[in-house]
Amino acid sequence: MAGEAHCAQHPDRVAINSCSRCGAFFCAEDAREVEGKLYCETCAARPDVDWLEALRLKYWGKRDVWAWLVGAWAAFAALEFVSSLWTLAWHGLGSVGPAWTQAVADLVMESCLVAIGVCFWSGLSWARVALPLLELIRVFLGSFRMGLLGAVFPALGLALSIGIYADVRNELFFRVPVSSARLKRWWHRYADNYVARTGFQFALAGLILPPLAPIALLCSAIGLTRVNPSAHPPIGRKQQAIAGLVLGVLGTLWGLALVYEFTHRAQMP
Ligand SMILES: [Zn+2]
Ligand SMILES: [Zn+2]
Repeated sequence: MAGEAHCAQHPDRVAINSCSRCGAFFCAEDAREVEGKLYCETCAARPDVDWLEALRLKYWGKRDVWAWLVGAWAAFAALEFVSSLWTLAWHGLGSVGPAWTQAVADLVMESCLVAIGVCFWSGLSWARVALPLLELIRVFLGSFRMGLLGAVFPALGLALSIGIYADVRNELFFRVPVSSARLKRWWHRYADNYVARTGFQFALAGLILPPLAPIALLCSAIGLTRVNPSAHPPIGRKQQAIAGLVLGVLGTLWGLALVYEFTHRAQMP
């Protein structure tokens, strides 16, 4: 039919709409929705259109701070393993006693830690589940050996490992599918304009500890220059950066007033 738009990819099909970015007509099959707007298939795949997808790709399979910490922990466990091995050799295989049993139990535990830690650092997905499980076993072992007090330290490790398991950034390292909504929430809550966020936190702390106020000013100023809502992903926290600047100035003035007061009093006879 004349006058009717056809799909750019499928000339035999009638177009349902045109792309928000390039204006090409597309049929129902080629239509892609990103953030409430319709795009053609090619444009929807662009990082400047789908910034969430670009964000996902940026961190996909990339080691996060937790991976490095668990890796360092595994290295520490390896040292402990050597020390336990030495203890075992010292007591000898013949003298089976409480110290010997303890050393064997330690060896088993430490070798598990090293294996899980190395696999975690390497991004093998089973280690993601194994880490909190191992910590749970350590809680039981600790309380069995030394009562409630012995469970306190492993319980902190368990809480931390559960926190790591639920962390979006760590999930991206392990290539776990993260929903767009969760990824977006994570970006806005933690990753977006980190400098401005830190600046605001320092500004609040600077009201009590004035020496922190200049740091808050510096961070908030840098954060403010980074604000760019049209970037991909969009960099926000403008209000927080401004609040950080205002509170930072207040904290600095307050600090200067304290210094003045102190020196003034010191000079009085
Ligand atoms: Zn397009
Ligand atoms: Zn088509």
